[in-house]
Amino acid sequence: MSEVSGIGLNALLARVPSVERLMSSALMQPSIDAYGRTQVLAAVRATLDERRKQIQSEPVRASAASLDEADIASDVARMLAQRAQSHVRAVFNLTGTVLHTNLGRALLPDAAVRAVVDAMTHPVNLEFDLEAGSRGDRDDLIDDLICELTGAEAATIVNNNAAAVLLTLAALASRKEVIVSRGELVEIGGAFRIPDIMSRAGARLREVGTTNRTHLKDYEEAIGARTAMLMKVHCSNYAINGFTKAVELDALAPLARAHGLPVAVDLGSGTLVDLAQWGLPREPTVRETIAAGADLVTFSGDKLLGGPQAGIIAGRKDLIARIRKHPLKRALRVGKLTLAALEPVLRLYQAPEFLRERLTTLRLLTRPATEIRAAAERVMPALQQALGERYSVSIEPVFSQIGSGALPVDQLPGYGLVVRSVSGKRSGSALLKLEKSLRALPRPVIGRIADDALRLDLRCLEAGDEARFIAQCAELRA
Ligand SMILES: *Cc1c(COP(=O)(O)O)cnc(C)c1O
Repeated sequence: MSEVSGIGLNALLARVPSVERLMSSALMQPSIDAYGRTQVLAAVRATLDERRKQIQSEPVRASAASLDEADIASDVARMLAQRAQSHVRAVFNLTGTVLHTNLGRALLPDAAVRAVVDAMTHPVNLEFDLEAGSRGDRDDLIDDLICELTGAEAATIVNNNAAAVLLTLAALASRKEVIVSRGELVEIGGAFRIPDIMSRAGARLREVGTTNRTHLKDYEEAIGARTAMLMKVHCSNYAINGFTKAVELDALAPLARAHGLPVAVDLGSGTLVDLAQWGLPREPTVRETIAAGADLVTFSGDKLLGGPQAGIIAGRKDLIARIRKHPLKRALRVGKLTLAALEPVLRLYQAPEFLRERLTTLRLLTRPATEIRAAAERVMPALQQALGERYSVSIEPVFSQIGSGALPVDQLPGYGLVVRSVSGKRSGSALLKLEKSLRALPRPVIGRIADDALRLDLRCLEAGDEARFIAQCAELRA
């Protein structure tokens, strides 16, 4: 019971320890050592303000703890720890979407991580030609590698694929027309829409065909004096089925060539290898696209490629030269960390035998269902025990997605933990509550609620993270 009851409000407030007293107390020293006096002072002031307000609003409930120095010190320490927690945090991606844009897309392989650490902590030859001993160009560091892997004559790298498309249009089609099929005027999400990008780049969109059918003669009739280029856009995140017709690149390229116009292809995900060899759905590779007649191809670094966020433009040397010279290139260029990460990722493609094992994205996409099931069996007991009797946890087959617009209609068979609320009627709110507690764990767990169950797809829980997942399950119980 409150030992301070019966004391007047002012007397109570006078018992709140002073800022000076707390700051010089041994109780505060560990916090001062960890966070520095400035932050501790601010936290002490905020905590004491809170205590005084509490006492003023509910003096009868003010207990000895409200005034206790050790209690105040632990509140201060908690506040400081909370404020120091990084805002960019590692999470468990159990959504079932491997390349999840909201969760940062591709995870980098070890070789890329080491290269980034090196580039972060040492000077690098970013724009310095080591052979000539003079100024170099950052694009020259890895354009050879991109050309080798794609068959392109030249390449340049920018901040992301949206930037690659923007820059291509700005450099080659400003104040001119770009012909695109109405079936390819896509919105990728995050406000990337082909018509908008086109107008931002100062190019005029010339739509041809209809949503479901576009013919070669539609392109042909649209070509005129103002045409700068023909463009094809990969329908990354949707599929049109039924009565459809699109003009394939190998038919479009000769038409463009006959009129002296370039064809640009925005591949979106842009894989460098035929994924069918690992049982994944087929996607056109960058090399095939160039061989089929694309003068320029744009694609992302952090989708199927499995590297850092970047946009790659590969294709004809004269066109790449114009793109590199455009003033927007300077604004959209990548930093040294991106280049450092991208190079080792590209090098993995030079040894395709090891790719499945070493390229994290591919390893996750091709992870055998039996292996995922075995992982589910190892982690299931810990989750069931933590959740108690109010929830049932079962291992069930699930279908994961590649994500990031790659191959939207195909799904990968795997296993997941499926959590259902036993309470029946209030099951919806119980699941939402559980989902929230999972997000509040030290390493937040992100799952998905569907069909009255919380689904944790274990495809992306690799062996190295399993122990951590199991260990933190215990905190759910608390
Ligand atoms: C994903 C995608 C983009 C945007 O790429 P970012 O790397 O996210 O900027 C552009 N076009 C297509 C077809 C895409 O799939």
